[in-house]
Amino acid sequence: MPEVTHNIYKVKKELPFGVKLVAVSKFQPLAKLCEAYAAGQRCFGESRANELEEKAAVLPEDIEWHFIGHLQTNKVRSVVANASVIQSIDSDRLLRAVSAEAVKAGREVKVFLQVHVAAEESKTGFLPDELAGAARLALTLPGVKVVGVMGMATNTDSKERVRADFKAIAECGQAVRAIIPTATEVSMGMSGDWPLAVSNGATVVRIGSSIFGER
Ligand SMILES: *Cc1c(COP(=O)(O)O)cnc(C)c1O
Repeated sequence: MPEVTHNIYKVKKELPFGVKLVAVSKFQPLAKLCEAYAAGQRCFGESRANELEEKAAVLPEDIEWHFIGHLQTNKVRSVVANASVIQSIDSDRLLRAVSAEAVKAGREVKVFLQVHVAAEESKTGFLPDELAGAARLALTLPGVKVVGVMGMATNTDSKERVRADFKAIAECGQAVRAIIPTATEVSMGMSGDWPLAVSNGATVVRIGSSIFGER
């Protein structure tokens, strides 16, 4: 069996029922995405607007594209046109920009509020105490529907730290749900840490390298 197919079957077998797999295909060649598609995968994650645009233009229409990278406001139109879901809303400004472009495009975009809990300063997102404000703002904006929170754990060998980060992200999810009851999704867990994310409440995992290989 080809490698990508094998890897997808393996992850799917280990993933509990009801946890959604986003196959993170950023920087991967089309052939690998086609192989994943042939293996039944329909949900892919991309982190660059141009790359998403190019891939979405040539791959089947029934793919659900999730945008997971840092999004600059000048790329919002392109991402709104191509992605079903934007997981990386990290500022009020971006939320407003996505709302405006969604209204122009006559559609509703599902979004996750990205939360910053990791130790690294380079990771973007709302701080936990900024989330409630963002959720309230989202309720006033047309064209965007908050479905949950997205986060990343610290990149560390300390399982305890990673577990604490996942717990913190899940708590942020509850805080958002107190304001938006339908925002039930918690997107957390990548190739190196997804089982721990699932045992701490992930409903969506984003897995790249252990499906497609190194980038
Ligand atoms: C690249 C990326 C992933 C996937 O990472 P892997 O370690 O390759 O599984 C998940 N989430 C985000 C936000 C990413 O940028």
